[in-house]
Amino acid sequence: TSFGYKQVREEEKSRLVGNVFSSVASSYDLMNDLMSVGLHRLWKDRLVSKLNPFPGMKHLDVAGGTGDVAFRVLERIKSVGHRAMQGTLTATEEDTHIYVCDINPNMLNVGKKRAVERGYSEEHCLSWIQGDAEALSFEDGSMDGYTIAFGIRNVTHIEKVLSEAYRVLKRGGRFLCLELSHVDVPVFKQIYDVYSFSVVPTMGELVAGDRQSYQYLVESIRRFPNQEKFAQMIQEAGFERVEYENLVGGVVAIHSGLKL
Ligand code: SAM
Repeated sequence: TSFGYKQVREEEKSRLVGNVFSSVASSYDLMNDLMSVGLHRLWKDRLVSKLNPFPGMKHLDVAGGTGDVAFRVLERIKSVGHRAMQGTLTATEEDTHIYVCDINPNMLNVGKKRAVERGYSEEHCLSWIQGDAEALSFEDGSMDGYTIAFGIRNVTHIEKVLSEAYRVLKRGGRFLCLELSHVDVPVFKQIYDVYSFSVVPTMGELVAGDRQSYQYLVESIRRFPNQEKFAQMIQEAGFERVEYENLVGGVVAIHSGLKL
């Protein structure tokens, strides 16, 4: 039956995604730098500047992996906090809490190690929680912000992730998603196709010893809804003022929405 087929496809997808991130956890950060020629750092900076973090905020970074987004949110809050010392801000840096949620414990463990190296302690302001983006363990209306970077493309049910994001956000809370998206610029699109179909899997094989996983990642980019369609899905989850920004001609896009 078509249901049976769908079921198998979904199990296959979950298994593949699990394998990908278990097998790449240790080389994950290096591969990110190589594949994006370091650009993912700028893209994450841009994501966090759109979030506009503030001292005292409760923030959830889903599919947070090794902590790249969470560290940026914290660093930004620290810099805002220092500027606010002379101002009238009442919320203190100590009230700030960033939750990193990821389905894969290997990724979280790498993140925890990095946090220790950076001097961020768990009890302080950072929690690492194993969990599924499709069924979050956080309470309704408990977060000021929600980010998901390079995470939503690999989930089984995008709609469930979006409705969970909506549920856990407070009114006025912001949803932000950074994701590899669709390039629609002639010539550049052809170069990008060659890069992603040939260079990325080869790099995966040479650096992470895993060609198949990176081939799968490239294919998943093609299957992910384009910018407009994804914006529509965010709207359907209940978000308002939904918009997106393309970076590098749509290689990545940042979608945002508000829960009003
Ligand atoms: N956000 C990090 C970054 O930008 O560096 C990590 C991105 S990594 C490409 C994708 C992450 O999504 C992996 O750590 C993987 O374990 C996680 N993931 C996949 N499916 C998930 C799910 N259903 N719920 C939560 N995390 C998931």
